[in-house]
Amino acid sequence: QSNSDSTLLVQQFNIEQRKQKELALEKEVITDPLTGLLNRRGLQQVVKNKARFIIFYIDLDGFKLINDSLGHAIGDQLLQHLGLKLTTGDFREGYACRFGGDEFIWLIEQDKLTVSPEQIGNMLLSKMSEPYIDKEKRPISVSASIGVAHYPDDGEDFEKLILKADAAMYLAKKQGKHRWVSYLSGMETTVHRQSELAKHLYQALGNDEFELYYQPIFDTKSKTVHSVEALLRWKNPTIGNVPPDECIRVAEEIGILLDIEKWVISQAIADVQKFRDIFDSNVAIAINVSSQCFCSPELVNLLAELLQQNNLTSDAIKLELTETTLITDVEQDSAAALKIHKHKIPISIDDFGTGYSSLSYLHKIPATYVKIDRSFTQRLSQDHSMISSIQHLISTMQLNTIVEGVETLEQSQILNDMQIHLQQGYGLGLPQPLNFYLEQENIKKLIGLQ
Ligand code: C2E
Ligand code: CA
Ligand code: CA
Repeated sequence: QSNSDSTLLVQQFNIEQRKQKELALEKEVITDPLTGLLNRRGLQQVVKNKARFIIFYIDLDGFKLINDSLGHAIGDQLLQHLGLKLTTGDFREGYACRFGGDEFIWLIEQDKLTVSPEQIGNMLLSKMSEPYIDKEKRPISVSASIGVAHYPDDGEDFEKLILKADAAMYLAKKQGKHRWVSYLSGMETTVHRQSELAKHLYQALGNDEFELYYQPIFDTKSKTVHSVEALLRWKNPTIGNVPPDECIRVAEEIGILLDIEKWVISQAIADVQKFRDIFDSNVAIAINVSSQCFCSPELVNLLAELLQQNNLTSDAIKLELTETTLITDVEQDSAAALKIHKHKIPISIDDFGTGYSSLSYLHKIPATYVKIDRSFTQRLSQDHSMISSIQHLISTMQLNTIVEGVETLEQSQILNDMQIHLQQGYGLGLPQPLNFYLEQENIKKLIGLQ
């Protein structure tokens, strides 16, 4: 049929080398060059067709310090060493990824699990904190904070799942590091809020966003203002009003609490004379201080300097120290307290009754006032035996009782009947800015004076 003499042209190439090259290239794009673990892209490829798995988001504690003090070369060796641990021994069955500078992710499919996720968390903690012995035989150790999240239960979008594990990790850091935390719904909002606050808080002092509100503490027997408590207010144009406890917690975390407290102290001392002009020449301002501020070696000098600048003596202020902070380190606090006491600055123990320790610290801290926590005031109409016995204890120690959180006149009356006259609360006078007290009309509205 065909008489054509067709030719079959066969060309032969050896693609072996090219294939090798391609494979090497492919491997390169999914591998972290330092540790040889998967990189982010590699991790994404790995999870593509996995039905159920668990991720452990690992962030080293204290790695930056090692990098800064021992140098990047040692830091790199440590990362390599830790990377190796994540791919060997008990961790062979999973996938290890270097996710960022000192962050790793270890991932395992649900059906490959031979122990519980909790056990894996503990195993990772102990593996990561085994010391690494460097070439000069120095043991170098870090610990890890780990966030755990489940696919698909905690999120079907892998990117978002990582953010959730990251949020859990962040909370593990906050709870004291060297621990794992499993993701719970809503955690990322907390974390987001914290980082928003932190971002704005750095600029808050410079932008003049703080203000002090003052709440009177009344002597209901003489119907006078005994003292006023300075309460911090932070108004940020973007996030709005932030409650002081939250602001203080974040400030402490990012290391600027002391600066804020110094501002509070100097502002409060600058305002004392105004309150003395309005109410009584003996009125003092009560200033809340954190344990960190209370124990700071600069505090006494700062107070002395500010008092002198404003022509005041030490009875113009009181320092309020909360019971819960006292409990963590009584020895340190009592040393600081003795110094403050020597300068004749009165100390109030705040939120009394909320701590759980023995009352022995009451002997160690030379306080003048004890403020009974408002949770006791709330129960006053049902049961006043608690306040009564606390008051008894306080007076046998020759200290003065202040009751806070007095919200109703009924509560105030019960306290009067118990001969407790130093009272503070919304029912007698709200925290208000200084300007409020400059209006005579407003002074008349203070229930505590009536
Ligand atoms: P705190 O020292 O126990 O202050 C009393 C808190 O109770 C204030 O809340 C006050 O507004 C509120 N309060 C007053 N009367 C009543 C009442 O009758 N009922 C109720 N339910 N609450 C009442 P605020 O201003 O939100 O402050 C919260 C905490 O933040 C303070 O608790 C204090 O521990 C801390 N804080 C405030 N300002 C400063 C500051 O300048 N420095 C430090 N270190 N801590 C501060
Ligand atoms: Ca207080
Ligand atoms: Ca209090």
